[in-house]
Amino acid sequence: SFRALRIDKAEDGQTISVVDFPESELMEGDVVVRVSHSTVNYKDGLAITGKSPVVRRFPMIPGIDFAGVVTASETDEFKVGDGVILNGWGLGETHLGGYAEAARVKSEWLVPLPEGMSAAEAMAIGTAGYTAMLCVMALEKHGVTPERGPVLVTGAAGGVGSVACAILGKLGYHVVASTGRPEEGDWLKRLGATEIVDRAELAAPGKPLQKERFAGVVDSVGSVPLANAIAQTMAGGAVAACGLAAGMDLPTSVAPFILRGVSLLGINSVTVPKPIRVEAYRRLAQDLDKEKLAAITRTISFDEIIPTAKAIIDGKVRGRVVVEI
Ligand code: NAP
Repeated sequence: SFRALRIDKAEDGQTISVVDFPESELMEGDVVVRVSHSTVNYKDGLAITGKSPVVRRFPMIPGIDFAGVVTASETDEFKVGDGVILNGWGLGETHLGGYAEAARVKSEWLVPLPEGMSAAEAMAIGTAGYTAMLCVMALEKHGVTPERGPVLVTGAAGGVGSVACAILGKLGYHVVASTGRPEEGDWLKRLGATEIVDRAELAAPGKPLQKERFAGVVDSVGSVPLANAIAQTMAGGAVAACGLAAGMDLPTSVAPFILRGVSLLGINSVTVPKPIRVEAYRRLAQDLDKEKLAAITRTISFDEIIPTAKAIIDGKVRGRVVVEI
């Protein structure tokens, strides 16, 4: 057996405890991994607090991502001793997840740990950072470049936002960071932000067409701030939407799309095909400075997962949190 966090269904919601989990209860898969690191993402917060129905099977080991070393493999693609990363594919939702010393998973889901990247660094990036890269890649694919104009990052002090600021800054963009934590302004500027705006500026419902300010947007908050970001996107620009920290709704109209040709690019990191995942990690190894990554990362122990999950839902976590399993 091995140490794991386990969520069980209870009459009034769910319970969570640290348990000795029997190896025999691991789910199907052709690769077994000794998990060394996981992380705390917003979705982990939702799963652990039970705020949203993220967990679809009980008992569940939460943790939507992990990095570790292969200890058994029935496929030629991975051999014992290989470093691997897993993000999404229902990990911690429908398949036993990353807050455990061991995991058995499908080899299709695994990405090899890139050369020169440690397991701890891969999890400092985590699902949030990898999603930030997917957003940047989506904007690039649409033709957004630093020459086209500034790029807005919402939820800038959060996990997705802080990694997005670091990547975009390194790529030479004029990065406008929107945050509810202006006290983190200097920290965001050191990361890569050019300008800091108070998120209150985007919080009040506005017109669907406003002054054109941004060539691109990386949005992790949704709702009214996303509607305002779309309204301030330049003609032909694009908005990569990946999150809902401010809400699931999107109170806008078709005006920005049909009158300015603005594109809304949806990002779902969970089911991205493997070649794009591998490319995203290659880009992260290339376009995210290790010192910047270290500057946004805090490392916690297994015992701190539950309080940290609560803190991330309250918007109190800055940057990224790595869990040493
Ligand atoms: P996080 O670290 O908690 O970051 C979220 C940030 O959003 C907060 O730090 C805060 O930034 C801002 N925020 C929180 N509440 C807000 C509110 N009411 N109004 C406006 N801004 C608010 O979480 P994360 O792990 O980066 O994830 C961010 C979002 O992306 C989550 O919704 C998550 O579910 C989503 N996500 C989606 C995918 C995908 O595949 N689509 C993948 C990863 C994450 P400031 O303090 O700077 O204002």
